[in-house]
Amino acid sequence: MPSGDYPENWPEISAAIRDRAGSRCECTGQCGLHRGNRCEERNGEDAKWASGKVILTVAHLNHYPPDCRPENLLALCNTCHLRYDQVLHSHHARLKRRQGKAAGDMFGHVERYDGKALKQQRKKGCAT
Ligand SMILES: [Zn+2]
Ligand SMILES: [Zn+2]
Repeated sequence: MPSGDYPENWPEISAAIRDRAGSRCECTGQCGLHRGNRCEERNGEDAKWASGKVILTVAHLNHYPPDCRPENLLALCNTCHLRYDQVLHSHHARLKRRQGKAAGDMFGHVERYDGKALKQQRKKGCAT
């Protein structure tokens, strides 16, 4: 069974979620920051917590792309999304190491829709 892929209408789904969010990051601490407050980053504005512009992305809370129920989706700024993925990936990496598999492409699914910015972040942030 494939590990899961994005549905055909993902661009519409993700646009609807960003619309729901009012173009503001919906993170309220899922990434490990903000102490229970909602992230202040807004799409297209200068990032407060990082360099460059905010890119609002849409994350799957359970990291399973075919699961596009609204409650499984969260509009996250690129900073929160990256952090959120790292929280989960470090957990998965431990699991995979235990299973004897390589960690694989950590950000493959994210790069599908804003690859450029996140690739830059990857170079800066987590070169390992
Ligand atoms: Zn955020
Ligand atoms: Zn956050």
